[in-house]
Amino acid sequence: LANDNPASRAYVSTKSKVAKECGFITFDSTLRNFSKEELVKEIEKYNRDPKVDGILLQLPLPQGFAANEFIDRINAEKDVDGLHPYNQGLLMRGEGLLRPCTPLGVMRLIDLALMKEEVSELSRISRANLAGKVVAVIGRSILVGKPVAQLLLEQGATVLQLHSKSPRIEALCSGADIVVAAAGSPGLVKASWVKDGAVVIDVGINRTDKGKLTGDVAYEEVSKKCSAITPVPGGVGPMTVAMLMSNTLLAYKNNAM
Ligand code: NAD
Repeated sequence: LANDNPASRAYVSTKSKVAKECGFITFDSTLRNFSKEELVKEIEKYNRDPKVDGILLQLPLPQGFAANEFIDRINAEKDVDGLHPYNQGLLMRGEGLLRPCTPLGVMRLIDLALMKEEVSELSRISRANLAGKVVAVIGRSILVGKPVAQLLLEQGATVLQLHSKSPRIEALCSGADIVVAAAGSPGLVKASWVKDGAVVIDVGINRTDKGKLTGDVAYEEVSKKCSAITPVPGGVGPMTVAMLMSNTLLAYKNNAM
């Protein structure tokens, strides 16, 4: 944890708690008033430590620190966030072990919505057949939008990658069988953006003036129209943490081989 952001502190605390529930040992580091060299040293300490299988650098970093510069220093085999360029490159090739957690969580939720299966087995491999399905992904960040699109393509989906410079977003979105909203814009997706019976996955986490968490989807009106929708909080967030644990277990098994 390398920033003073209360939301980041809360995320790290949840991840540590769930890791302990999974039986993992956590080594929490909180850095304050540090230099770039000190942050690199901290990452390299964990890179070298054979007891450590997963390293998570909580983003965002303080002003003046370019996240990629530090993500690149994490050993790719311990990159449980799946953000290292080596792991992102493998993802582009349809390969790789450690894939980004939020996109994996989105795929898992789409599986659950389409296959109506129980959550009994936490599968890492998406099983829903998305051939012939049109999916609108709103957002194109390296953390969510782009890797989600990549995972959807692997399952045969036809992906509309929409973003702040896209024309006719409402019209394009309203033709989609599945909508994944990851724009960071509260209530952006209205009922008129969603076709009857669509599956809606809300990745957005926004804080209102009153401090309440809200997603990118106008939940009340959209939930009346769609066949499945994820709430905020309580949808993609917890599934992201579950996928982080799954990645950590995989990294452990891989590093033990
Ligand atoms: P980002 O700011 O890096 O990217 C946002 C993307 O949305 C950009 O590509 C931009 O072009 C697009 N966009 C913004 N406003 C738009 C609009 N009005 N219309 C169309 N496109 C628009 O954000 P990010 O890191 O990708 O995160 C997106 C959201 O998801 C944020 O609210 C973030 O807090 C949330 N998030 C949630 C989780 C989770 O675990 N639930 C994880 C990561 C991010």
